[in-house]
Amino acid sequence: MSCLFCRIIAGEIPASKVYEDEHLVAFNDINPQAPMHVLIVPRVHVATLNDLVKEHSPVIGEMVRRGAAIAAERGYAERGYRAVFNCNQDGGQSVFHVHLHVLAGRSLHWPPG
Ligand code: AMP
Ligand code: ZN
Repeated sequence: MSCLFCRIIAGEIPASKVYEDEHLVAFNDINPQAPMHVLIVPRVHVATLNDLVKEHSPVIGEMVRRGAAIAAERGYAERGYRAVFNCNQDGGQSVFHVHLHVLAGRSLHWPPG
């Protein structure tokens, strides 16, 4: 298994997990870009957003809802936060297993660089 996030999901590589259930895993980003920077990944390996099919819709929805829940648990619901998927080179994707970044705790710039 060569995918980094599949290896984290399988417990082969340590990660600071903050949530897991039968469909998804959430863990702290190793190089946080904000006071809170959590990654939420589906257990199923899907390389990029371009590879999503209809069957993935429930887990993608669960990922987004879980990101909102984690932000709310930490008191960021009112202040706000950012949830983002990067796709391929121009999107800045570096790990090819779909993941939702959830960033909070500072004012985030828009448009992104
Ligand atoms: P992206 O650039 O959108 O593909 O995001 C990949 C993210 O994975 C980056 O923010 C990295 O800091 C993060 N990352 C890389 N390796 C690890 C790891 N071993 N544990 C946690 N996060 C990681
Ligand atoms: Zn994977």
